[in-house]
Amino acid sequence: MTVIDLARKLNLWRQITTAINAVLPAAAAGELLPRLAELPVTQSRATRSLGVYVSRLGEPVCIRLQFAQELENLRETFLHELSHCCDHLCNQPGKRYRRAHGPHWQQWATLLGATPQRCGSSAALEKLYLQRLKLVAVCRQCGTEFRRTRRLNRRRKYFHSDCGGTLRLI
Ligand SMILES: [Zn+2]
Ligand SMILES: [Zn+2]
Repeated sequence: MTVIDLARKLNLWRQITTAINAVLPAAAAGELLPRLAELPVTQSRATRSLGVYVSRLGEPVCIRLQFAQELENLRETFLHELSHCCDHLCNQPGKRYRRAHGPHWQQWATLLGATPQRCGSSAALEKLYLQRLKLVAVCRQCGTEFRRTRRLNRRRKYFHSDCGGTLRLI
């Protein structure tokens, strides 16, 4: 999937092109839009992050999105990440992307219709995260249970900092 595929699916492509054509000179818009359109969108399985804009060596690579979030969240996250790509290509072309949520990004986010804030949250993702937590250890001394998304390293010995007991790994 690419940005234009998802933008059409979410009914956002017209909004994006209209906004870009309104602020950029025709030549610049004509360069930016095809680059956005062909940018890959890939699926993220992260439960602590709604999405991310990935770049490498000064060039956009893709947008990764967690599709388990609510539709309204997905639109917001998509526009948020797309604003990073616009900010990168227009304000820091060819350079390693920096100041990810600075004033230039905020301008783009506002323009494209996203909330110009660092990160959003999603109740659906929060639930998914909690479901992924597994019981990974129990304190031998006091019985406290420890939940994480990943198992602990079996070659290590863990202690419960509150009581000093050793942990039994599960
Ligand atoms: Zn961001
Ligand atoms: Zn303990």
